[in-house]
Amino acid sequence: MRADAAVAAARRGRGPLKRAAEALRDDAEARAALVNRVVAVSPDVVEEASEWPTKRLLRWALDRSDAAQVTRTLTARDEAFVCVRCGRDVPPAGRTARDHCPWCLTSRHLDVVPGDRASTCQAPMRAVGLEVRGADLVITYRCEACAATFRVRALQDVAVPDDPAALRALSARTPT
Ligand SMILES: [Zn+2]
Ligand SMILES: [Zn+2]
Repeated sequence: MRADAAVAAARRGRGPLKRAAEALRDDAEARAALVNRVVAVSPDVVEEASEWPTKRLLRWALDRSDAAQVTRTLTARDEAFVCVRCGRDVPPAGRTARDHCPWCLTSRHLDVVPGDRASTCQAPMRAVGLEVRGADLVITYRCEACAATFRVRALQDVAVPDDPAALRALSARTPT
C-alpha cells in the first residue's frame, strides 16, 4: 500500500489506521514519503521523524492533510504577545520567530504547521522537557488541552533570550 492510499484508509478510523500502518511497516519507500512530508512541513520542529513508528507517521499525515492543502508554506511569525501564564509583555525575538515566553517558557497551541495560526485549540502549552542537540537546546511542549506535542529550539542568541534559570529548572525536571 502506498503512502497516499494508506492515509486515505487511515481516515476511516482507528482499525483501518492500524491495518494501514501494519501494511506500510515494511514498505521503506512509502515510509520515506511520509517522513519527507513531516520534514517538509516542519523543519523547525526538531523531531526524528524517520524513527517514528509507522502509525505515528500516518496519524501525523492525516492530521495535517487538510491544513497542508490550505497552507503549504511555513510562515515565520515574530510577533510581540502577552504571555497567557505570567502576563508579561513578550517582545519579538528579532532574529527568528518567538513562539514562547522567555521567562516562564509557556507557549500556546496556535499553529497546525509552524506559523499558520490554523489551530482551533489555542490552549496554553507547557514546557515538559529539555534536551541538548549540538549547540541547540530543544524544548518539548505539550498542549494542556489536547496533548499535542511540539519540539522547538530555545532562543539563546537574541536580545531577550530564554531565561537560563528557567531552562536549567526545566532540564532538572526532564526525565532521562
Ligand atoms: Zn510567561
Ligand atoms: Zn491543543
